[in-house]
Amino acid sequence: MADLLVVPDPRLADLTTLRIGGRPRALLECATAEAVTAAVGALDAAGVPVLVLGGGSNLVVAGGDLDVVVVAVRNSEVGYREADPGEAGPGQANPGGADSGGTGPGESVSGGIIVRAGAGLNWDDLVADTVGRGYGGLECLSGIPGSVGATPVQNVGAYGVEVAQVLHRVRWYDRGTGTDEWVLPAALGLSYRTSVLKNSDRAVVLEVEFRLDPAGRSEPIRYAELAGRLGVAPGERADPALVRRTVLELRRGKGMVLDDDDEDTWSAGSFFTNPVVREDELPTVRSRVTDRLGAEQAAQMPAFAAAGGVKLSAGWLIERAGFGKGHPSSSSPARLSTKHTLALTNRGSATADDVIALAREVRDGVREAFGVELHPEPVWVGCSI
Ligand SMILES: Cc1cc2nc3c(=O)[nH]c(=O)nc-3n(C[C@H](O)[C@H](O)[C@H](O)COP(=O)(O)OP(=O)(O)OC[C@H]3O[C@@H](n4cnc5c(N)ncnc54)[C@H](O)[C@@H]3O)c2cc1C
Repeated sequence: MADLLVVPDPRLADLTTLRIGGRPRALLECATAEAVTAAVGALDAAGVPVLVLGGGSNLVVAGGDLDVVVVAVRNSEVGYREADPGEAGPGQANPGGADSGGTGPGESVSGGIIVRAGAGLNWDDLVADTVGRGYGGLECLSGIPGSVGATPVQNVGAYGVEVAQVLHRVRWYDRGTGTDEWVLPAALGLSYRTSVLKNSDRAVVLEVEFRLDPAGRSEPIRYAELAGRLGVAPGERADPALVRRTVLELRRGKGMVLDDDDEDTWSAGSFFTNPVVREDELPTVRSRVTDRLGAEQAAQMPAFAAAGGVKLSAGWLIERAGFGKGHPSSSSPARLSTKHTLALTNRGSATADDVIALAREVRDGVREAFGVELHPEPVWVGCSI
C-alpha cells in the first residue's frame, strides 16, 4: 500500500459503525505517521476543514455533501520493550476521576513492559495481542471498536477501567505548532469520556504507548458485574485472558461488540454519557423519580460520587423515562438497541436525520421526566443534537 492513497467516491456511511454520513470532499488513507502529518499539515496550511478518522465508531455524521477532507489514520505497527526504571508508572497517568478506579501510585507496576502501537491499529487487535503474550493491563477494555489512536481522545473506558490508567505516552502532531512530539498523559487533560483532543483540532495522535504488567495480572477488577462473573472480590486482579473472555461475553450480550450480522451493534456504542448532577440537585431528581415511579424506584436509582457531583446512570434514566429496548418500534429505521437502551442503532436504512431525531426524542424525554440533561458521547460532524 502506498503511504498515501486517495480513495475515489467516498461515503462516510461506509466508514462509520452507525452507517450514516454523506460524501466528503476527499478521503485520504494514510499508512504511515509521516503521511498523516504531511496530509494534515498541508490541509491545515490551505485552510481546508479536516476530519481525522479512525474506525468511525464514535461519530454521528450528517448526510449530503460535507465540506471536509477525511484523513484516515492507518499506521499500525506494534513493538514491545521493557520500561526503563525511571519511566513514569501508570499511577502518574491516572487523572483520578471518581470512576476511573486508577492504579494508585503505590500500586504502580515496577519495571513493566511498554507496548507502542500505531494510531491506526485496530484497538481490539492490540488488546488481543497483549493478552495473548500474557501481559495484563488492557483486558477490561476488550471489544471496544475503533483505533488505538482514538482511545485517548475520549479516554475510552469500560468495566471499571479507563485508558488513562494504562497510558504511558502519546506521540502527536500538534496542529497549532506543526510539531511531531511525544507527550505525557498529563498533557491530554483526560477525564470521564473526554480530553483536550475531543471535539477539537488540537492534535492528531500518531502513536500510543501503554504500560503492561508482565507478571500476567489484570488491572484490579472494580466493576461488580465483572467481579461477580469472575468470582473475585472487587479490587482483586485476575488472569488477563479470562478477564478478556468474560468481558467479551458480557459485551456481546449487550450488543457492544461489532457484528455485521447483529443490527443491535450498528451504533456508536453508548450514545449518552452518564450525567453528573450537583449534589444539591440530587434530591430534586429523586423527588421527580418518586412522583413518576414511586419511592422504591427513587431509592434504587443508581447514583455514584463523581468529580463535580453525583453521577447517574443514563441507561436507567432513559428506560425509566419510558424508552424501552427497541424504542420506538420494530419497523423504525433508527431505534434503541433491543439489548441496551443506551445504544441508538441504525437498522440498515436510517439516515442521519432519523438518528438525530431519535437522539433528540430521548434527550428531551429524560429532561421532561426527571429534569436531567443528557449529553451525547459521540463526536458530531456537520450536524448537532
Ligand atoms: C458497539 C460499540 C461499543 C462501544 N463501546 C465503547 C466502550 O465500551 N467504551 C468507550 O469509551 N467507547 C466505546 N465505543 C465508542 C468508540 O468505540 C470509541 O470512542 C473509540 O475509541 C472510537 O475510535 P475510532 O477509531 O472509531 O474513532 P472515530 O470514530 O474514527 O473518531 C472519533 C473521534 O476521535 C478523533 N480521532 C480518531 N482518531 C484520531 C487520531 N489518531 N488522532 C486524533 N483524533 C482522532 C476523530 O476525529 C473523532 O473526533 C463503542 C462504540 C461502538 C460502536
